[in-house]
Amino acid sequence: TKFILVSGGVISGIGKGVIASSTGLLLKTIGLKVTAIKIDPYMNIDAGTMRPTEHGEVYVLNDGGEVDLDLGNYERYLNVTLSRDNNITTGKIYREVIEKERKGEYLGKTVQIVPHVTNEIQEWIERVAKIPVDDTGDEPDVCIVELGGTVGDIESAPFVEAMRQFQFRAGHDNFALIHVSLVPDMHGEQKTKPTQTTIHSLRGLGLLPDLIACRLMGPNPLLPATKEKISMFCHVAPEQVFGVHDVSSVYHVPLLLQSQGIVNYLRKRLNLDALKISREMT
Ligand code: ADP
Repeated sequence: TKFILVSGGVISGIGKGVIASSTGLLLKTIGLKVTAIKIDPYMNIDAGTMRPTEHGEVYVLNDGGEVDLDLGNYERYLNVTLSRDNNITTGKIYREVIEKERKGEYLGKTVQIVPHVTNEIQEWIERVAKIPVDDTGDEPDVCIVELGGTVGDIESAPFVEAMRQFQFRAGHDNFALIHVSLVPDMHGEQKTKPTQTTIHSLRGLGLLPDLIACRLMGPNPLLPATKEKISMFCHVAPEQVFGVHDVSSVYHVPLLLQSQGIVNYLRKRLNLDALKISREMT
């Protein structure tokens, strides 16, 4: 399985969910089977007990799982059926670890965030990524993992560390990172500093962005000069910088990403053609 992590910086509610779903949809169009996992770094076991006015509506899955509404985006964009395990929360991970501790599964060791919580997160992702999500019963080729919140929060730290370790567990060809950042528009001037800062802290935590999706709150697309500047200051090639401005419908976001070459980039980066060939042979 290939993994694409979608993380975010600067502010939440920036459009990570839509970018994650759109990326999955585009990979589906080239014949790949795509599944998705949403990580919500809060202590609640699930969204069922959370006030909708604060958190948005609760999405109910076929298995009765009460989850974040991003899971609804995935089901609609990808035409899949997900289960409650496709939504990971801090509460679920801690519950697993504490239950194992009570059963003595850690053999007397001191139970710690690293490695016990971070291992639990990685094992959960590996396990759920393999579960078939459509009626063919085939194992998915690609798993999109969306990390809720923003990188640098105390809440998301164990997940960021787990993903830092996970890139080596999966291998370079099997793990790519899309980081969604905010590019504010100050009276026509697109500001890159928040993006520079969030990429800097991301790298400091050991995660290197393959694509930087620059979210512009407004109708104006990312300017070529802004793209060049982000490329220069964030140590990525210009073709690794994408602009995502406000569009009239979120269903236009896949076209916006496609027009900037996301599929070709991921194809090469993750060696997706090899995956297709080996699947056609079996
Ligand atoms: P996050 O996952 O970062 O919290 P979401 O993907 O849920 O953010 O998006 C937050 C809100 O912004 C949603 O209501 C979504 O419909 C809207 N949105 C996201 N991207 C765009 C876009 N490119 N144009 C217009 N609205 C968008």
